Amino acid sequence: MSNLPDWRDRMLRAVWWHGEQLPEEVRTWMAELYGERGEISESEFCDSWTARTFSMARSAFETVTRSAEQDTGKATTGDDYDYISYTRDPDQGPVGVVRIKSAEVSTPDAAEVLCAVAEGVQEFVMSHHRVTWPVCGEHGRGLHVDYVHETPVWTCTGGSTDGHVVRAIDPAVQA
Ligand SMILES: [Zn+2]
Repeated sequence: MSNLPDWRDRMLRAVWWHGEQLPEEVRTWMAELYGERGEISESEFCDSWTARTFSMARSAFETVTRSAEQDTGKATTGDDYDYISYTRDPDQGPVGVVRIKSAEVSTPDAAEVLCAVAEGVQEFVMSHHRVTWPVCGEHGRGLHVDYVHETPVWTCTGGSTDGHVVRAIDPAVQA
C-alpha cells in the first residue's frame, strides 16, 4: 500500500499550494521524487520545489531571450540587465519566487514558468527598448501569451473574432 497520496497532500500544504488542479507535470515529478527518495520532509520538499522552479526559469529565460534577440536584434541579457530575480524569503513563503519584471512564478511547472518568463521579457523589451515584441507578421499587432492544450503559445487578436495562434513560445516546439 502506497502512502503517496497522503505524502503529496502534506507536501502541497507545505508549499502553500492552493491551485485547484495540480499540473500533470508536477504530479508526475512528485511521484518520481517519492519513488526515489521516499517520504522526504516538508523542508526538503520545499528545497526541491524551489530548486526545480529556479532551474526551469533559468532555462526558459535563455530560450525566450534568445528568441527575442533573434526577432528584434536588441539585447535582452547582459551585465546591466538585472530584471530577473530568484528570491527565497522565508518571511514571504516556504518556496522561492522568480520575478521577471512584473511577472512572477513559484511553481515548478514548465509551461507556467515559460509563460511568466515570456511575459516578463516582453515587458522588458517594451520598457527598455520601446519595441513591441513579438509581433504578428500578418496583422502587425503585439502578441499575447496563451495556452493551446497546455502548450504556451503567442496569440494575436487580429483576423477572426477569436484571433489566432501565431507560434509556440518555445521555438523548438510545434504549436
Ligand atoms: Zn495576427
